[in-house]
Amino acid sequence: EPDPALRPEQLPEDRDRALRPKMLDDFIGQAEARSNLRVFIQSARQRGESMDHTLFHGPPGLGKTTLAQIMARELGVGFRMTSGPVLAKAGDLAAILTNLEPRDVLFIDEIHRLNATVEEVLYPAMEDYELDLVIGEGPAARTVRIELQPFTLVGATTRLGLLTTPLRDRFGIPTRLNFYEIPELETIVAGNARKLGVTMKGDGALEIARRARGTPRIAGRLLRRVVDFAVVEGGGVVTQALADSSLTRLGVDSLGLDGADRRYLKLIAENYAGGPVGIETLSAALSESRDALEEVVEPYLLQQGLIQRTPRGRMLAQKAWAHLGMAAPKAPGQ
Ligand code: ADP
Repeated sequence: EPDPALRPEQLPEDRDRALRPKMLDDFIGQAEARSNLRVFIQSARQRGESMDHTLFHGPPGLGKTTLAQIMARELGVGFRMTSGPVLAKAGDLAAILTNLEPRDVLFIDEIHRLNATVEEVLYPAMEDYELDLVIGEGPAARTVRIELQPFTLVGATTRLGLLTTPLRDRFGIPTRLNFYEIPELETIVAGNARKLGVTMKGDGALEIARRARGTPRIAGRLLRRVVDFAVVEGGGVVTQALADSSLTRLGVDSLGLDGADRRYLKLIAENYAGGPVGIETLSAALSESRDALEEVVEPYLLQQGLIQRTPRGRMLAQKAWAHLGMAAPKAPGQ
């Protein structure tokens, strides 16, 4: 039986594992993060030591898991993967830590969702490669100290602000991942199409890249759907026109916004005259969790300058009114 605290490395939507970049040189974009990691990886290799603990933060789908896997491969060590919500008890984490080989990479996704008792086990493990386990209960309880192999913890979070300070401080290499530029996404889409054996013509890849919300995971998903249309209706060839019509039929608009994004913008426009409106109100009106809005929907809208965050709540920016084809009220927000 596999350890229930370990997620299978292969997620359903990543069936095509072949598409994941395997080494740093294959990884497109995130130039600053990549060049820093290259140095830290090489230094760890030359010293024969475990690499320092690394924290990746940024919106979902930007390559946090992929980079963690690349680190293990470049370091020539094993890769173990789990996630914050799965580690219910201190013992779950202890079982994983005591089974690590020297210098292994342990990846903890959604590390902001670790519970407090598990997190406390992590502190001495990260700092001194030691576990303090409490055995027994009440007056008979005692602590035993277990030595661990040196390892590299790679944490990933979409919500840096939710990490406790002691945990954050224990990562020597905090790394922010940003939304990708369109030319970077175009390169990723074109490369994936090649690997899938799909013929791209003209600006087919560019059209998909423009509408991928700055996110490689979304680019991959859109490519697969466009390929479906190409196979059935386009003689197997992806042109810009085919990409455009397929994505429009899928409800992905010219800025790459999907139905959820547009519902969010329209709600503020139509029901709150452009805001400001509080996140809890939006969450209730849209029947979406506040977390989903803050982690998935809002970062891209903010980055695109479609909304602003103010102390009194979210407000539509001029660009959003124009995109919705609506006129902004005379004195927005008054
Ligand atoms: P995260 O862990 O940040 O949610 P992942 O690492 O799971 O994101 O990446 C999501 C998908 O996007 C994966 O299928 C991965 O192969 C692809 N991907 C991410 N970054 C890149 C990149 N720089 N180049 C090519 N593909 C990428």
